[in-house]
Amino acid sequence: MDSKETQARWALRYAKRIVIKIGTSSLTYDSGKMNLRRIEKLARVISDLMNAGKEVILVSSGAIGVGTDVMKLPERPKTVAGRQAAAAVGQVSLMQVYSRMFGDYGYNVAQLLITKDTIDNPESKQNAVNTFTELIRMRVLPVVNENDTVAVDEIKFGDNDNLSSIVARITGADLLVILTDIDGYYMENPNETPDARMYHTITDLSEEIERAAGGAGSKLGTGGMLTKVHASRLAAASGIHAVIANGEDPDIIHSILDGEDVGTLFVPHE
Ligand code: GLU
Repeated sequence: MDSKETQARWALRYAKRIVIKIGTSSLTYDSGKMNLRRIEKLARVISDLMNAGKEVILVSSGAIGVGTDVMKLPERPKTVAGRQAAAAVGQVSLMQVYSRMFGDYGYNVAQLLITKDTIDNPESKQNAVNTFTELIRMRVLPVVNENDTVAVDEIKFGDNDNLSSIVARITGADLLVILTDIDGYYMENPNETPDARMYHTITDLSEEIERAAGGAGSKLGTGGMLTKVHASRLAAASGIHAVIANGEDPDIIHSILDGEDVGTLFVPHE
């Protein structure tokens, strides 16, 4: 790492307000069943950060994936109404698990379901910001998802990577961590190129940097690397550090905050 990179990693130690985004592929097994061991660990890591005085917001996907399993559907529904129904059911199961697991560490969780028009409308955006601020002040963990049950195309964020980046921006976060099922952003597709190289630090925030990011997502989620790079780039352009990292072991969040060279860091413009 050169000195600028070292400095940028070091700055992560001082991040106070942190938005953590976790995707369906990290929260569930391929069957759609919840990966309880991982969610349990995530709850422990986040609770520990809160114990240490950090302010955390969790953006969690998984509603549709979990709903698909809970309702014993053979696959993720193909119709919009079907996905909305699955999300409505799955969101409840997800929040139940979060509530129980964070409760073990003494923290309450709050559910915030938002749509794009919440943010587009200055009044509702301000109300959402006020709610985030108040929950954080009360040491409650806000758990955010898109309000899939009412979101039609015109009012959709589309994916939770984008949503997490917007949440980071409107809440004035210092750091956005996007957890996924791959170590970071690779220059070549690691599924096709065995010795594909990973970006450790990105300082070029131009659109050009998205070029190598393909669109493929997992079976149950919606995002791919492209949406993660786009979301991270926009966060960094607004002065927020952004890291794409592997959520397989949620302890990686501690490594990121210790300034270790893990994942892909997008260095913000001051
Ligand atoms: N809101 C969707 C869900 O909870 C996830 C969207 C995404 O994966 O980006 O299932």
